Amino acid sequence: MSALQANWNYPTAIRTGAGRIRELPELCRNLGMRSPLLITDPGLKSLPMVQDTVALCRDAGLQCGLFADIQGNPTGENVEAGVAAYRAGGHDGVIAFGGGSALDAAKAVALMVGQDRPLWDFEDVGDNWTRVNEAGMAPVVAVPTTAGTGSEVGRASVITDAAKHVKKIIFHPRMLPALVILDPELTVGLPPPITAATGMDALSHNLEALCSPFYHPLAEGIAVEGIRLVKDYLPRAVADGADIEARTQMLVASSMGATAFQKGLGGMHALAHPLGALYNAHHGLLNAILMPYVLKANREAIEERITRLVRYLDLSEPGFDGFLNWVLALRESLGIPHALSAIGINDSDAERVGAMAVEDPSAGGNPVAFDAGQYAELFRNAVHGRL
Ligand SMILES: [Zn+2]
Repeated sequence: MSALQANWNYPTAIRTGAGRIRELPELCRNLGMRSPLLITDPGLKSLPMVQDTVALCRDAGLQCGLFADIQGNPTGENVEAGVAAYRAGGHDGVIAFGGGSALDAAKAVALMVGQDRPLWDFEDVGDNWTRVNEAGMAPVVAVPTTAGTGSEVGRASVITDAAKHVKKIIFHPRMLPALVILDPELTVGLPPPITAATGMDALSHNLEALCSPFYHPLAEGIAVEGIRLVKDYLPRAVADGADIEARTQMLVASSMGATAFQKGLGGMHALAHPLGALYNAHHGLLNAILMPYVLKANREAIEERITRLVRYLDLSEPGFDGFLNWVLALRESLGIPHALSAIGINDSDAERVGAMAVEDPSAGGNPVAFDAGQYAELFRNAVHGRL
């Protein structure tokens, strides 16, 4: 095996390395699939990447189906349509293939093919997950084609309840895909702005997990190295999309972020979730813009651990200010704007955004318990670029 190729069994079975998509049929068989349903984004459906993958499975004797009727922020209706396609095709497993939306929708379909209750009965509240008929869940192989959400190693899906205009988290421990392929060749076609925004989402996952106040040293260790990988490889992946080493390390950093945030997220995501729902803005881009404002608002609570992080990252400028300045310089070098106003968001709904942020599940992981007014003020600062 080459230096950037490995098989890991934590947090799930992961095959990482260039070209390893070719092992997909074998992995499907390992999970008992004869007739998998490949679920992907509509934007990818007709691309060679997806067509070749379906052909690869069919050539290996699998009855592979294709379902791509999913929108950017997948809805309960998208999941229902996927379940119907799964049943109509007589499938026995799911290949989750694409960006975060496709992976989330596919994981939810795999959950729902064996349930009698409606999807929303499994929202991540209390012990709702114990209502799941585990035996009915379909096995999943996950193949991310972006490096940011880390949904391939997550135990939940974010699905929009279109009737109520809210994003809900659907959770079950076994929604963690049984097998993951991290193949950097599938990400080389991502344009620089998407590479940058999704990569900053991976950074925000590692960073918010590190800063969350809960006791979870395993997650902290992962988060610190995940941040280093983003520092060393995101600029390279944006500058040269065909840099396989950088693409590999960013896929791994993305999986590390989602592994680490079992420890919690924080204020960036507490604000990015309502802003995504209200303004339909890109999730990673929102986190990237919000990052320095949230860091600064949390300064007192996180200064010690950020100072430790800076020593590990070997930044030229020490301490909290060194880290903040590194974030600002990284954002600028990636072409990410400094203020939310630059992506068409104004502060007319600041009170509503603040109220939604404080209710968001991610708010519980922020090291400072901001109230709705404080979130509204943070949001106003981010709109106007007042750091
Ligand atoms: Zn995120």
